[in-house]
Amino acid sequence: MTEKYAVVVIGGGAAGLSAALVLGRARHSTLVVDAGEPRNAPAAHMQGYLSRDGMPPAEFLAVGREEIARYGVELVRDRVVDVEKGEDFAVVLAGGRTVRARRLVVATGLQDELPAVPGVAERFGRDVLHCPFCHGWEVRDQPFGVLGTSPASVHQALIVSQWSKDVRFFLHTVAEEELSDQDLRRLAAAGVDVVPGEVAELVVEDDRLTGVRLADGTVHARSVLFVGPRPVPQTGLLERLGAELHETPFGAYPVVDGNGQTTVPGVWAAGNAIGFAEQVVHAASGGYRAASAIVGDLLMADLDASVRV
Ligand SMILES: Cc1cc2nc3c(=O)[nH]c(=O)nc-3n(C[C@H](O)[C@H](O)[C@H](O)COP(=O)(O)OP(=O)(O)OC[C@H]3O[C@@H](n4cnc5c(N)ncnc54)[C@H](O)[C@@H]3O)c2cc1C
Repeated sequence: MTEKYAVVVIGGGAAGLSAALVLGRARHSTLVVDAGEPRNAPAAHMQGYLSRDGMPPAEFLAVGREEIARYGVELVRDRVVDVEKGEDFAVVLAGGRTVRARRLVVATGLQDELPAVPGVAERFGRDVLHCPFCHGWEVRDQPFGVLGTSPASVHQALIVSQWSKDVRFFLHTVAEEELSDQDLRRLAAAGVDVVPGEVAELVVEDDRLTGVRLADGTVHARSVLFVGPRPVPQTGLLERLGAELHETPFGAYPVVDGNGQTTVPGVWAAGNAIGFAEQVVHAASGGYRAASAIVGDLLMADLDASVRV
């Protein structure tokens, strides 16, 4: 017999676990299916989450899993490979199990597609960074590089100057003509050096970034490199359900209301599944909002059904 839950939460990162905690505490049978690849896994510490600043991401999730278990929420390490909407939702797991749910929370996060420069992937989350709010304090005042991969990299080069006055902006794949007069004025005012030329590879010594080598062979001594990964939202299941998406410069995300309800009745989304800039604290908050909306939605559906009988 297929097991039926009130809610299946797809993804067990900050967003999914937070939703599950609220649902469990509201006495709803809830299953979290988690493939176990949270976005911030490469980082040793999670910063900027009030009261948890500096906590290892894995520890944060372990505490969350412990908390949801107290309220009878089940969690399985598996991947949802398909969902189908009928009277309720059929959720198909890679491990071969199919479960049913009255409501869904999609909290599948996003994946970072890194620029294909040798050394970048190996050092991501250590001294190759994407987010100054996540890591800026820890590397403050060091010699920064910023890898140009799109005109949006200008913004990154400017923002990181809040954390170091020694910033070199390697244009790499950005043509000089793509920089506007305003970009150039702001970069100069921020004291950011603009370095034309393609980056060939990172220089690493004793397991630390020490430089950035250009294609012409010159090496710029740098101990931190900021890059702009291409965010790849994990929206396949939402698309399968027919959810409306909207394009942004950072990928296509589901159209949601203030509580994360998508355009598909019964389906909510939270965390990086709804936007590239959702930090851990936002993801946890989004999961909470989705779950509390679901509690109301299920209750009203049951009350209305009982009145109709
Ligand atoms: C290197 C790095 C460092 C960061 N540091 C910080 C920081 O210091 N502070 C901060 O606030 N933010 C930080 N972030 C951002 C942070 O990672 C995100 O804000 C956060 O992970 C979003 O939580 P989420 O629950 O939406 O997604 P995730 O944490 O990515 O969780 C999504 C989960 O869903 C699972 N999943 C995906 N698809 C499926 C499927 N089909 N079936 C089942 N499970 C699935 C994934 O395996 C994953 O476990 C950092 C990001 C990176 C890349």
